[in-house]
Formats: sequence, structure tokens, C-alpha cells
Amino acid sequence: MTRGPRPAGRPRHVPQRTCVACRLGKPKREMVRLVRLAEGNVAVDPTGKKSGRGAYLCSDPACWQAGLKRGVLVRALKLDHLVAADAAALEAYSRALPAPVSPSISHLPITLAGTEPAPASD
Ligand SMILES: [Zn+2]
Repeated sequence: MTRGPRPAGRPRHVPQRTCVACRLGKPKREMVRLVRLAEGNVAVDPTGKKSGRGAYLCSDPACWQAGLKRGVLVRALKLDHLVAADAAALEAYSRALPAPVSPSISHLPITLAGTEPAPASD
């Protein structure tokens, strides 16, 4: 028999990473890892397993803008500058990121607007 108390839904120990742009620590899976390659290039590392100096950014386009424009990412990766092609690729990546979701509702399932009649409160 495998009956027993169900583990709580929230594991207490969640690996956290710090966004180099906003400096907030967030669960690793909510972050995007960037890795510095041997040639001085920077690539997005979706698996988080590439070797090399890495830096994390929130999956929030605002942090990507800050990271790219203010040289934050360059410093975090100890580079002199970002290769233009990489900057363009990262910028394109940031544009493809989903729209930022408020952290307080991000864990809720997406509800389709209009499926439930909203009670008129005013
Ligand atoms: Zn951030």
C-alpha cells in the first residue's frame, strides 16, 4: 500500500536564481539562462545545462531590455561588449517572450474571458 499523507503542493526548497537586471531571486524555471560561449558569443540556454559562464534573466521583456541596453548582461558575463548579431538575437528572443504576468496570478489556470458571466457589482 502506498497510502500516506500527500506531500504539500509547494516544495519548500526551490532552487532560485537572481536576475541580473532586476536582481530579484526567482525559481529557476521562471528564469532564462544565458551562457557565454567560448568565442565571446552569448546564447540563450533553454535547458540551463550548457557549460560556461551563465547569467539569468527573468522571462520579463523589461528585464531583457534592461539587460541588453544598460550593459548589465555584458558585465554579468564578463564580456567587453555584445556582438551585434547576438544582441539582435537576444532582442528578438525577448520580443517573443510571453507578456508579463502578475506573479500573484501566474499560478492560476488561465480562464477564458466570457465563459462565466461576471456579476455586475456597480
Ligand atoms: Zn528580472
